[in-house]
Formats: sequence, C-alpha cells, structure tokens
Amino acid sequence: MKIIVQKFGGTSVADAEKIRHAARRIIDATKKGFSVVVVASARGKQTDQLVADAYELNPSPPKREMDQLLSTGEIQSVSLLAMALDAMGHKAISFTGSQIRMLTDSVHTKARIISIEAERIHKQLDQGKIVIVAGFQGIDEDENITTLGRGGSDTTAVALAAAVGAKECEIYTDVDGIYTSDPRIFKQAAKMDQISYDEMLEMASMGAGVMHPRAVEFGKKYDVTIHVRSSSEQTEGTIITHEVPQMEGVLVSGATIQKDMAKIGLLGVDNVPGNAARIFAHLAKHKVVVNDIIQTETGAEKANLSFMINISDLEAAKIAVEEIKPQVHYQETFIREDIADVSVVGVGMRTHYGVAEKMFGALAEAKVNIDSITTSEIRISCAVDEDQAEKALEAVCLAFELDKPAKLRNS
Ligand code: ADP
Ligand code: ASP
Ligand code: MG
Repeated sequence: MKIIVQKFGGTSVADAEKIRHAARRIIDATKKGFSVVVVASARGKQTDQLVADAYELNPSPPKREMDQLLSTGEIQSVSLLAMALDAMGHKAISFTGSQIRMLTDSVHTKARIISIEAERIHKQLDQGKIVIVAGFQGIDEDENITTLGRGGSDTTAVALAAAVGAKECEIYTDVDGIYTSDPRIFKQAAKMDQISYDEMLEMASMGAGVMHPRAVEFGKKYDVTIHVRSSSEQTEGTIITHEVPQMEGVLVSGATIQKDMAKIGLLGVDNVPGNAARIFAHLAKHKVVVNDIIQTETGAEKANLSFMINISDLEAAKIAVEEIKPQVHYQETFIREDIADVSVVGVGMRTHYGVAEKMFGALAEAKVNIDSITTSEIRISCAVDEDQAEKALEAVCLAFELDKPAKLRNS
C-alpha cells in the first residue's frame, strides 16, 4: 500500500475544531487508499509558552531540561489527534519520538536525526491504523530527550517519509504555499507553484520560516516530494522538488529576511596558517552554528575575521572567542546585535548576470546601507541594520518583481 506522510503545524491543531479538521484531512487520505503517517506540532503558541515558563524560573535553563519540557507540547497534540480520529471511527495510535526510536545526536535544542526505526510504524500501518508521531523530538544514545530546533517538526515529517518509503510529504500550515517572500512582511508576495530543493534550502536557511532547512535537505537526499499547503483550504499548494530546466529562466525566485542574528568581528588576528581552523573548531566545540564568514588580510601579519550567528548562540560564541584569544592573538572584538540579512535566491543566477547590480541598486535607492555582502552560487545576502531590514526587503522584492508570478515578470 502507498504511504503518505502528513504534517500539521501548530496553528493547524490549535484547538478542538482544528484538530477535528486535521483528522478529516487524514481520513480523506485513507479514503484515497493511502496508509497515513501523521506528524503534529505543539498546539498554537504552546512551545513559546513553555519557553516563557522556563525563563520565568531560570534565566539560562539547562538545555537538556529545555528539551524535556518542550517535547511535551507535541505529545499532547498527537494523543489528542488520535482521540479525535478514534471518535470518528478510525483506528489510530500515537507515538513519541523515543517510542519510534528517532535517534539523534546529543546537541540539545538543535539535535540532528541519525536514524529512525520504521518497523514499529510499519507494523501498525499493516494493522490498518493511522500512525501519529510527535514532531520535533528524538532521543540520543543515552535516552535523553532531544529537540531538533524551532520549526523542527517539518524535519521529523520528511525524515519519516524517507524512513517509511513515502514518495510525498504534505506540510499543512497557515499559508497556502511558499511565496516569493514572507507574505506577512511583503504583502504583495506571489505564490509559487513549485520551487527547487536548492532554492528552498537557501530560502529556509536565510529566514523563510515556512520550512525547516533540514527538512528540505532530507527531501532532496531521499527524493521525497514536499507539498506545502493550507490546512484550512482545499487548494493546491507549492511543490518542492528537483530542479527542472524552466526554473533556470527565472532570475530570482524569492527573497528572505533573517532577524535574530548577531555579527562577531575579530580584528587583528595573527595572519598565520591554522588560525581560522582554530577559531571555528573552538566555536564548533561550543556548538555555535556559524554563517557568512568573511576574512580579509589587512597586511602581511594581521587579518580581520567576521561571521554571523543566531542571537541564541551569542553567549556561547562570546565564551568561545574569549577562550581562543591566547592562541590566535586578535587585538579587538566587535559585536553587532542590531543586524539582519536580506537575501535573494534563484537558480537562474547561475547563468544570468546583473543580479548583484540590481539588488545593490535597489538598496541604494531605498537609502539602505549595506554592512557586508555574502554570496553562494544561487544566493546574494546583504547584512543591513535591523530597523531598515523590512524596507530593504520590500525594495528588493519590487526590483525583482516578486509581487508577480514568475511568468509575468519582465526580468
Ligand atoms: P507551522 O506552525 O505550520 O509550522 P510556521 O509558522 O512555521 O507554521 O510557517 C508558516 C509561516 O511561515 C507563514 O505564516 C509565513 O508567515 C511564514 N513564511 C516565511 N517565509 C515564507 C514564504 N516565503 N512563503 C510562505 N510563508 C512564509
Ligand atoms: N513546536 C515546535 C516549535 O514551535 C516545533 C514545530 O512547530 O515545528 O518550534
Ligand atoms: Mg513551522
């Protein structure tokens, strides 16, 4: 029997009526002949509430306990969903991450999936049951509960799809698909019919919170088609899939904004082989995820090094940088917490020129100063003042006509 994975985000299971609605979506899939594996997130804003509860008691809560606490939100959703399905006459069983041995590494609050035991799920599906798995959580080798990072239920869902052999994973959410930019910020954003894994990965990594980046990686690696769609409307959403030639004709597919960032600069680092390796190995030891590294020689003997991190890693990064100082001998640090990245993404950049010029021109016209610029083969990012970031995003979106569907654009 064909298996499909359906994931319901927080707003899609926020209250009893929404849970019933999700249950009807699940039942529809069984009627189409699918065996259904469901992944659910914590209801509504519950994860935020749990985070607030933790900080009320402890300004720096131990990460292991944070995971133990946050995992409870998803457990409530899956059992309630199973009860709703039972009340509608359908056999369903819910599991926590540990019950299906969703094995992860031990990096609490941002763990990565290592393996999943699919047998328990197959056994239940074979008995005709709907299997509902708590998103966002796993266990490490020592049976500690871990979580995959905010938004991580998407990754649970796509990883499960790969593990059980489902070709498609449906992500039900509060928007009806992927837009050229976050429609809450750039109101005229246009919905896309499809987007490539590579573009979605860049967008998700650079702030498009609609998908967890690791989910997109799993989709690409294990060939799972991801369908992002509305949980409240019966419309087609956006398909995330492999690149097709026509995608290359589009210069820029989307634009993103990433706030909650900090930039750390180390000025006057000894310009000798091995120093960059020492610094980043030490940051990795402190589990700091680093982006957008820029190093420039300032003379034969010294170099300046800067990098961006998530603000939640700032304390750990400050400790790491201080500890490594005696080995790399930098003269000064500077830290900016009021910074945001605005990025444009498109596979068309590989074969077209002029994207950078257009982006910088749009920012200049909007009187937005660029702090630093980083690029990948299919992305250009500009770090800007956080309070100018939304204005910058709008200027860039309009310059690339991201208010129109791709086929109606002139560029
Ligand atoms: P869920 O709880 O269902 O996982 P999320 O809040 O994680 O939902 O993701 C959906 C939200 O992502 C949308 O409400 C939207 O504001 C935001 N978002 C950011 N970038 C985009 C984009 N490019 N397209 C669509 N939604 C986006
Ligand atoms: N409940 C978690 C969060 O709010 C995971 C998720 O929603 O995907 O981040
Ligand atoms: Mg989400």
